[in-house]
Amino acid sequence: MSSEDPTVSRRTFLAGSAAAAVAATAGCTGRANQSSEPTPSGEREVVHGNCWICRATCGQEITVEDGRAINLTGVDGHPKASAGQDRDGTLCSKGMAQLEKTYSPNRITRPHVRKDGELTAVSWDEAIEYAAERLADFHREHGPERLLRYQGYPIAKHPWHNLLFKNLYGAPLKVGRKTTCHGPFSTSWEWMSGYGREWPDWQNSEYMIAWGRNVMECFRGQYEPKAIMDAKENNDATLVCIDPRYTKTAQKADKWIPIKPRTDGALALSMANVIIEEDRYDEAFVENHTHGFEAYRDAVEDKTPEWAAEITGVDADEIREIARGFADAAPSSVALPWTGLTFQQNGFKNCQNVHALNGLVGNIDREGGTRQWQSASLADPHEKYDLDVPSNHENAPNPAEYDDYPFQKHGIRNVSHNLVPRAVRDGHIKGMVSNWSSPPKSGNTQEWLEAIEAMELVVIVDAFWDSDSKRADVVFPGASQIEQPFLKSGGDSSYSTKTWVTGSKAAIDPIGDCKPDYQIYRLLAEALAEKMGTGWDEYFRWESGEAYWDDQLDAVDMSFDELDNQSFAIVSDLEYEQWKGEDGESDFDTVNGKFNFDLDVVEKYADLAEAMDASTAPEWHPPDDEHYGETTDNDYPLLYNDVFVEQINRGHDQAIGRSVEAYLERYDMEDRGYDGNLLHINPEDAAERGIQSGDTVRIESADDEIELMAHVYEGIRPGRVVSLSGFGETSSHPDGAGANTMILNRERHIEPVTGMTARNHPVEVEKTGGGN
Ligand code: SF4
Repeated sequence: MSSEDPTVSRRTFLAGSAAAAVAATAGCTGRANQSSEPTPSGEREVVHGNCWICRATCGQEITVEDGRAINLTGVDGHPKASAGQDRDGTLCSKGMAQLEKTYSPNRITRPHVRKDGELTAVSWDEAIEYAAERLADFHREHGPERLLRYQGYPIAKHPWHNLLFKNLYGAPLKVGRKTTCHGPFSTSWEWMSGYGREWPDWQNSEYMIAWGRNVMECFRGQYEPKAIMDAKENNDATLVCIDPRYTKTAQKADKWIPIKPRTDGALALSMANVIIEEDRYDEAFVENHTHGFEAYRDAVEDKTPEWAAEITGVDADEIREIARGFADAAPSSVALPWTGLTFQQNGFKNCQNVHALNGLVGNIDREGGTRQWQSASLADPHEKYDLDVPSNHENAPNPAEYDDYPFQKHGIRNVSHNLVPRAVRDGHIKGMVSNWSSPPKSGNTQEWLEAIEAMELVVIVDAFWDSDSKRADVVFPGASQIEQPFLKSGGDSSYSTKTWVTGSKAAIDPIGDCKPDYQIYRLLAEALAEKMGTGWDEYFRWESGEAYWDDQLDAVDMSFDELDNQSFAIVSDLEYEQWKGEDGESDFDTVNGKFNFDLDVVEKYADLAEAMDASTAPEWHPPDDEHYGETTDNDYPLLYNDVFVEQINRGHDQAIGRSVEAYLERYDMEDRGYDGNLLHINPEDAAERGIQSGDTVRIESADDEIELMAHVYEGIRPGRVVSLSGFGETSSHPDGAGANTMILNRERHIEPVTGMTARNHPVEVEKTGGGN
């Protein structure tokens, strides 16, 4: 291991007033609201943690007093929490909320099983015995292929849920984040470049387009907004924000483009038209390392800025200016689409068109451009003990062969989130093991609630009571973030050319009867091994997650103790242009080794495109036909969508009252006696309907309706209405204030290529109550 970074940190015992002094200089920019005053006999310890609430794993320093965590700060120099070496580490509001979540009265603190129809608190022994019995019976009666694995965001990088239920139990079907968050973005990029996601090299960039992404608040670690601000200051970089909403990113941007929703693909094509017409593209890259340029050029030949201006509402001169700025700064430029595009029913094509721009200017895995980040390699602990982990899921039949499910046409054994209820009705899915997730919040809510009720077996690991844990047969109380140990190795960070590892022990003992995930899956594996005579316990031979990770860290010549002590370590160098083979030829991890503008080489996509009468090359698809989404009309003239990009509501089982307060304060709505999500509506649309801020309004679609408090706001385009997701019915928040926006969503609201839940709904808004 090359450890060039002096990661200074500590696990220090401090006592009495001396502790207060140290805690006060611990380098945080935000403090949790819990008191940090020492108790008279208080003994304080500052330990490390890792926030994984959005998977970014920002390093934490946690002050613990008499076994209770009382304060959180960031870790200086941490790759995900800071802007780099010798820079302050910070935590966002979600990270800061970990204390509130840990001590929330809404925590599940004991194992529960369903007895005579009632969820009943039981001992761990009884819960494990019961779950193992039911899972063994299920395996015998239905086969593992009818047990759905549902994977939430937090802790998803821990391998044990998959190890037990995919590799050993053999359940092939999974709902992951690709159908609830990023499918169109990541699948198109993967087919084009052979790499999952093109996270930017922000700090070295000179031209950054945040496209449908509120990166100042919705990030893969605190480093991202800091790197962007560094790039603006140090490189005089330009930040362009393309978003119908005036977000925090729009506030910081040099240009805010309030584009008409779902027209992003047209804007991208017209930018390509300018770049090609004016010979501003990277000819050498295009000629030597790409496939399908001819088709791309043909597709954009007549897509002038004037053509796009009509569709997008963006001025043609402005389009030219952005296209030139982006191309001229290349390869130190990047255009990054995100959930603003993936939530669209025409999202795949729109993402493909934006990705193509990056290939056109040759910024692929180059300094200041997109990156193909790699994680530091860790050892496989099973190999150390000559344990060959089986892949039993590969032998299981696929129970859900639906020709009319586009996502299934790819032969991908993931199930679209919105289609699960139908699979349950058809008897193809009969049970679910869910890890830290809340499916009825992610689409097709009503049917999902019925589906959970109809399943024969539902086993949940989670920390909060919500729609699925309340309906489960077995509930295992998961330890919260600060009660669990953690390890992650990664690439994307404030260190542009380095890989890293970060890890931490549990900061405090789990409250009540909660257990860390490893212990839960280990106990289950042991019980299942006995019931089914499988020997699966062998694959969980480690006493603890820490011991498992200790073996993983052999590869970087560290112990878990050492890593915990210093919070993180820089491990190895990460080159640019990893797509270049040794001979300088292109060696992308795609079917043809090239960067693909045209996806005709991806057989499974080519078949689907033909069936849908779509091109495999970049192309404009308006959201107005059978495949690409519903449009507004006289009855439903406003286009509604929800967002989870704010710091408040990301990460499923949130129970963070202070974040809600901060959200309402932001819009001056904190004194309205209301704790829910707001409907943001433009003054023009509000005036037409006699709506003022504080009024109660009904949002009605062709399928359903929800009720929210209105916030009249110029930071939203006329014709667009928006609210935050994560509130209301089925929420983990005890009073369920606000509305679950996915009540408007139905099975058919799906992006047709990837199966991603589409979240745009034509609606009408009507005032139902006077203002508060
Ligand atoms: S960005 Fe925020 S929520 Fe995500 S890991 Fe960092 S502190 Fe936690």
